Amino acid sequence: MVRVRFAPSPTGELHVGGARTALFNWLFARKMGGSFILRIEDTDVERSSKIYERSIMESLKWCGLLWDEGPDVGGNHGPYRQSERVKEGLYRSYAERLVESRQAYYAIYDPEDREKQIGISDTYPEREIQHGCSVTVKFRIPKGGYTEFNDILRGRIRFENSSLEDFVILKSNGFPTYNFAVVVDDHLMGISHVIRGEDHISNTPKQILLYEAFSWEIPEYLHLPLILGNDRTPLSKRHGATSVEYFRSKGFLSTALMNYLALLGWNVGEEEQIFLIDDVIERFEPHDLSNKNVIFDHQKLEWVNGKHLRMLAREQVRDAFKDFLAYTGRKEYLEKVEMDDFAEDVIEICRQKVNTLEQLADFAYPFFFDDYEYENNYVEKYLQDEKAGVIISEALKLFENLKDWTVEGVEKVVRGLPEHLEISKKKVFQTLRGAVMGRLVTPGLFETISVLGKKRVLERLRRTMKMVEG
Ligand code: GLU
Repeated sequence: MVRVRFAPSPTGELHVGGARTALFNWLFARKMGGSFILRIEDTDVERSSKIYERSIMESLKWCGLLWDEGPDVGGNHGPYRQSERVKEGLYRSYAERLVESRQAYYAIYDPEDREKQIGISDTYPEREIQHGCSVTVKFRIPKGGYTEFNDILRGRIRFENSSLEDFVILKSNGFPTYNFAVVVDDHLMGISHVIRGEDHISNTPKQILLYEAFSWEIPEYLHLPLILGNDRTPLSKRHGATSVEYFRSKGFLSTALMNYLALLGWNVGEEEQIFLIDDVIERFEPHDLSNKNVIFDHQKLEWVNGKHLRMLAREQVRDAFKDFLAYTGRKEYLEKVEMDDFAEDVIEICRQKVNTLEQLADFAYPFFFDDYEYENNYVEKYLQDEKAGVIISEALKLFENLKDWTVEGVEKVVRGLPEHLEISKKKVFQTLRGAVMGRLVTPGLFETISVLGKKRVLERLRRTMKMVEG
């Protein structure tokens, strides 16, 4: 039975590296009919926050990476939280077991200097504690020999035990350290495969030694390669924002983000670049992952996003757009735009030309809002041209009588204009485009006019005409 987990520490938003780790765990669970578990590793009391915990969970949900089990909270699965398990005395009891078998001991610290270890004891140092000493539990590294483990992508990795030092497993405040809690929890939760970032390779020998001390079965390990920025240093804040929340707020689609993250280390096959995650679950095979570092390429992500924006069904894009507007609090849209048939038509023609929902919101603006402004380059180049008046007034006349507002109907009328007026096609088209949209980069002119519809087009042409007449 495959049981995997994603175990974020709630000390920041969900980073794309974390999201990729969660994705590969999730894919493996789905492929194998196993379970994907979310465990919040919040034992670092100072650095952990509920705000980050909530934001990580919200991001995972948005990504579609739902976890399969956890304590019941109002009919849903909550995550497992190490802080709650601390309260149950769980880690302390396991630490004490190791003390009993002499594989761990109490370390005693100077009351004046809590960093300074002044002694050790195999029994609970009651007296020293009364004298104000603080106490931790430390794991005893076996003398000599080596510790090794197998990594699915890297083969056997060996560490000399002499390179390791006894380490704290239970802190003086009773909280477990990461290396200890992770082993106790992975064991108790029946985790079969540990899939995580390669930054944890150096922790693994300590964890293996703990498994051995308890005589517990050791899970399989797979350490994912690093994600680097353009300058080939590990992706971090220096490379700009990298959280899932950030990409959501910039108008990326969750399907595209998952697609792109999957490409960071997984060659899905046949040069395939664009897919929906649900469609490739069956092909997921951990051994196929790469152990080479990968570069996070914003431009490629945007390209993938554009592909998804055009590939998804009309309603999906509409819903994603709605989510984007609500998430980013785009007031003008939220207050004035209804997601009706007109909106869907607008989205449909605009999505052909943009790569993100943020670009879509800007690109579609003049469709939804009559108060669009006329760009300077339009005003200078076309509106101030001596032919502007005749082009717009002629178009007005034709559109007032037009019954067929399909793209073809509009096309027929507009195409006849240049010849009829003996004015270049470019000048006629651009003058009309700017007259109804205020700008020169829009979806195709005939589609734009057709989608705007008779009422809006006439109003806009009349208003522009007034400007021409001064
Ligand atoms: N809490 C650890 C982290 O966020 C989890 C590491 C692991 O998966 O073992 O890096």
